[in-house]
Amino acid sequence: MDEKQVKRKIVLVPVPAQGHVTPIMQLGKALHSKGFSITVIQTQYNRVSSSKDFSDFQFLTIPGTLTDSDLKSLGALQFLMKLNQICEETFKHCFGQLLQEQGSRDDIACVIYDEYMYFSAAAPKEFQLPSVIFSTTSATAFVCRSVLAKVNADKFLIDMKDPQVRDSLFPGLDPLRYKDLPTSAFGTLEDIIKLYSEAVNTRTASAVIINSASYLESSSLSRLQRELQVPVFPIGPLHLAACAPSSLLEEDRSCIEWLNKQKPKTVIYISLGSICLMESRDILEMARGLSNSNQPFLWVIRPGSIPASEWTESLPEEFSKLVSERGYIVKWAPQMEVLRHPAVGGFWSHCGWNSTLESIGEGVPMICRPITGDQKVNARYLESVWRVGVQLEGEMEKETVERVVKRLVVDEEGADMRKRAIDLKEKLEASVRSGGSSCSSLDDFVNSLQTKNF
Ligand code: UDP
Repeated sequence: MDEKQVKRKIVLVPVPAQGHVTPIMQLGKALHSKGFSITVIQTQYNRVSSSKDFSDFQFLTIPGTLTDSDLKSLGALQFLMKLNQICEETFKHCFGQLLQEQGSRDDIACVIYDEYMYFSAAAPKEFQLPSVIFSTTSATAFVCRSVLAKVNADKFLIDMKDPQVRDSLFPGLDPLRYKDLPTSAFGTLEDIIKLYSEAVNTRTASAVIINSASYLESSSLSRLQRELQVPVFPIGPLHLAACAPSSLLEEDRSCIEWLNKQKPKTVIYISLGSICLMESRDILEMARGLSNSNQPFLWVIRPGSIPASEWTESLPEEFSKLVSERGYIVKWAPQMEVLRHPAVGGFWSHCGWNSTLESIGEGVPMICRPITGDQKVNARYLESVWRVGVQLEGEMEKETVERVVKRLVVDEEGADMRKRAIDLKEKLEASVRSGGSSCSSLDDFVNSLQTKNF
């Protein structure tokens, strides 16, 4: 790469939420290592800090965006839609200024925006520069969003109320059932359809980058490639390709010391990611089942993740007693380090896409308890396609919790899942190494930018 190319800039636009920030910053690191300079343009809400890990990146903020209380009052879907309404002009202004500071327009290689920050497409279009969509979910979830964007909402709502239909396969999306489709607990079906139609609309984008690997989702990726009419680059799992610590919350490292004292492959690590909530009743049943299973457990309970409670203070005394026997609780964990720890035998997860990739990327089998959106798609794939997880469906009851934990950590079935998970880990590691499919896909993307193919 010559001196001129080294200076070319890529602008990244993240959704201000952990599950989106993490992979886009990893993408930034991967592209930086290919010789691009990186500018992150973000909203004032949930900003990534320009820490020492990103000292080579430029960070710009667009003014006047939404707050935590907007998120609470609007709900996540409306919040995102509002963000898109109010940011288009301010982003254009910010982008225009950035452009003026460059020697030439050509110094900006492209804008890569999270699919849910679709307001970002207008500025590069106006200035005739390439834009690229970055999807932080699986290719299969992307396919599902395209399908949902076109459903008849009234008919779909009626179908979803019929238990038989809910359990049946959705045409063309085998093995997904109606109930596995990425509908959301954070807003109405009308809102989710509206949001998905915006997100899957490639507008003027020249390409789509997906944080996935062909080995994991070859048929969904081929389908996207056919249907989107722009090149699709599966370049993940990004966390295996690039290290970019971008936690928005403080990690409690004391849990690593606790893990050091546990026997190999015995601990169930529990985390529901950065957004999902959990009812007190379910938490208590979970604690009872975990305790009855006799397995040690490390549990992340995020402040604010139990409705009407700051942290765990609303839970009955029994909860603290059960946890003190064989559990450890933190508010936020260094998740990748936890999953890599030899004491961890399984991951109880809401199956967010990052958690899914991080778990299979470490060869850790999963207990899948999806709550909303694409988590349901991922859980179904974990259980019935990759066969490295077991889904816990229906009411949370201590007996089923105990059984599922034993299936995963004690029984032969769990050992088989672990073998498959380790096989997946090896395949995924190979995909990001030189000559691997994701590594080649990233090179193809970079080549397209350098040869101005977009
Ligand atoms: N995470 C973490 N510490 C925790 C819980 C989660 O660092 O205690 C990270 C996790 O490693 C993952 C991200 O938060 O990268 C969650 O993303 P995911 O897509 O799994 O779920 P979301 O938060 O979007 O629901």
